[in-house]
Parts: sequence; structure tokens; C-alpha cells
Amino acid sequence: MAISLNSHLFAGNPLRSKTPKLHDPLSLSSSFESLKSHLHQNPETHPPNSPFFKVLLFKKGRPLVSSSIEEEDGVAPSWHLGWIDLADCKTILGKHGVQLTESSLVYLGSRAEEHVVYWAMDVVENGELATELSNRKQLCFVELRTLMMATDWTDSWVMGDLAIAGHGRALLEWHNQSRFCGHCGDKTVPKEAGRMKQCSNELCKKSVYPRLDPVVIMLVIDRENNRVL
Ligand SMILES: [Zn+2]
Repeated sequence: MAISLNSHLFAGNPLRSKTPKLHDPLSLSSSFESLKSHLHQNPETHPPNSPFFKVLLFKKGRPLVSSSIEEEDGVAPSWHLGWIDLADCKTILGKHGVQLTESSLVYLGSRAEEHVVYWAMDVVENGELATELSNRKQLCFVELRTLMMATDWTDSWVMGDLAIAGHGRALLEWHNQSRFCGHCGDKTVPKEAGRMKQCSNELCKKSVYPRLDPVVIMLVIDRENNRVL
């Protein structure tokens, strides 16, 4: 595979995380309110103007993807993220005793042209759930590094999927690691559709945001011979 120097893996998330107007139906706050009413009513009823919701499940940091990532007959492997509609997701998880609540979902962003808001959710190890997802939807949980190797770096759509998966994993990992307040030790609770956490102690109420860790990694290459040195 030729080395593409124009792409940055896990970067360039194509989902829009901010909207021009605060009360845009796709904005973080508005879509979170719609999500709550969907979950507490019948999620299959769809009020007019409400965006559609899709959920990306993760298990131990591995996103749910289409399972056709094996190379077949010399054709390069391909994959895509296994988005599940909110109503469908609630039904499937409910069958396995996992309750879908607004506090378990993290806002990933939206695609205005599709009027869809995307969410991520971490599920605990459950072999039966993974089997059902595989049988019913041909989806499975795959390690990000495996996906990276199965990605055509010139395919902008799949590269976008890789970036979304990386973003979702980072957010969910941050949630798992920031369950308690670093100031007073009390539990933290998700706020702002999972983009912020706040200490539950009324006297503290410290806000915590995901950390930014700027990193630079260099790779020396021989451009003429398409080789890594
Ligand atoms: Zn605190």
C-alpha cells in the first residue's frame, strides 16, 4: 500500500460538534432534550423537526463495525461503523438487561444534511449481546488498530469513520477514568450530553472536561522509494 502523506489517522472527524445557532435542533443542548423525550416516551414515534438519532456502541474501547473486514479474493478489505437507530438500540440492549439512558450516551456530533445526531455508548462485556449483533446485523466489536490496518487511507469516508471511532473511544475512556472528583472525591455525573462532568457534591460542583494531550509523532520516509526509514 502506498504511503499517503495527506491523511492523518484518527483526525479530521467529519461530524459537526457545534452548530451556528444555540437552539438548532442538531445542537448539543436541543438534541439532548429531544433524546430524553425519545427515551422516556416511545422512541419509535418521531416528532416533526426532531433529528434522527444513531448510536455507536463500544466494548472495551472497540467500536461496533461491519464484520466484512477480511480480505477476500485479493479485494482490499473494507468496513464501516455499525450505527444503530436509537429505537433499535434500546430494544436490543433491553433484551440483554442493559438500560439505555441519557446519562449513558455521549454526544458525538451531527450531520446536518442527513438531519442525524450521533451518540456513543460503552457496553459492558456481554457475550450474548455481541452474538446477537453479529447474527442480526452482521456487526462486531473490532480493535481500532485492526481497523486502521484495514483502512484504505485514500478513502475519505472510511478515514472519517476511523476519526469518529477514535473520538468516541477517547470520550468514553475519559468518562471511565473521571468517575470521581479530583477535588473532593465525590462521584461525578455527566453533563452537557456527556461532553462535561460535574462533581455531585453540592458544596463542590467542580466541572471536569476531557483532557487535551497534544502529541507530535515523526515518521522519516524515503519519498522516492515509498519506504519508511
Ligand atoms: Zn468535588
